[in-house]
Amino acid sequence: MKKHNFNAGPCVLPKSAIESAIAAIKNFDETGIGILEISHRTPGWERIMAETEQLWKDLLNIPEGYKVLFLGGGASTQFCYVPFNLMNKKAAYLQTGVWAKKAAKEAKMFGDVEIVASSEDKNYSYIPKNYTIPTDADYFHITTNNTIYGTEIHTDIDSPVNLVADMSSDIMSRPVDVSKYAMIYGGAQKNVGPAGVTFVIIREDILGKVGRQIPTIIDYRTHIKESSMFNTPPVFPIFVMHETLKWVKELGGLEAMHKINKEKAELLYGEIDRNKMFVGTAAKEDRSLMNVCFVMAEGYQDKEADFMAFAKERGMVGIKGHRSVGGFRASIYNACPMESVQALVDCMKEFENNF
Ligand SMILES: *Cc1c(COP(=O)(O)O)cnc(C)c1O
Repeated sequence: MKKHNFNAGPCVLPKSAIESAIAAIKNFDETGIGILEISHRTPGWERIMAETEQLWKDLLNIPEGYKVLFLGGGASTQFCYVPFNLMNKKAAYLQTGVWAKKAAKEAKMFGDVEIVASSEDKNYSYIPKNYTIPTDADYFHITTNNTIYGTEIHTDIDSPVNLVADMSSDIMSRPVDVSKYAMIYGGAQKNVGPAGVTFVIIREDILGKVGRQIPTIIDYRTHIKESSMFNTPPVFPIFVMHETLKWVKELGGLEAMHKINKEKAELLYGEIDRNKMFVGTAAKEDRSLMNVCFVMAEGYQDKEADFMAFAKERGMVGIKGHRSVGGFRASIYNACPMESVQALVDCMKEFENNF
């Protein structure tokens, strides 16, 4: 049976990227040696690194003055890198979920943290509005897509201080005005590749402003100077990222990607709103285009396990909601085909009809 992959991350990747990865494991760049076995100092590899950086610059239209880095450690490691490198006395955080909360927790070890607003009161089901960003903060940190709760900040906000964004789960899903951000980072394993590589887009002039000593490996300037090759980069995940971004480019770039993502999300939210057995958990205006969260509606709450089994029989994989929200979560990242979204919608319709 065909499987429809709605995993929240790691998750579905473009078929073409998987095919290239299989071929490269056997024979990288016609060297006769597989990519898992080459040196990262191989000229063919240096070309892939340069091309991957260029794909990022082209797709996101990254202005002059920014560097793109590929590091290890995941987005969670950046929660500590960010204050280490950028915080003198004070930083501001928008608390829109547990990832945002974890990021703020690390920052507290380096100085004062002001939580400008939090949606914890309603289990992070909305994005706080009308908050004030303190102008004496060294930076303001946001999480643009809240993977667990299915909420998303859909526009590039204006910040009076350096804006730092965790874009782990919506990077490359829409065009972004990078010039509004001092830094954007995330784990690759939601939208741009497999687990194992972390992307960092950083404006160089924000560095070198803190008093503390920064260990070499944690100092962004080290990685800028060495073009992400200070130590061994995650070679294979970067290769798959390269192939994934080539696929995005071939589709027509981020305008085209955004259009497809909106179509997929509209189809699924449309069914959630129409179907009497289901109800969405996120505030409508903040609904994520990437993670669609829903539960059984009033009166059907005892049918959750039945729907889970019904969907599983029809090939749906990874639709169980995060334990802190319950119900269901369908992650419909860039590489999730419309066909899979349609299959889930058909499954929800059929379940309602059979009832
Ligand atoms: C998945 C995720 C993380 C954690 O990423 P790791 O690479 O596992 O550390 C952080 N923030 C957001 C928004 C995520 O979706």
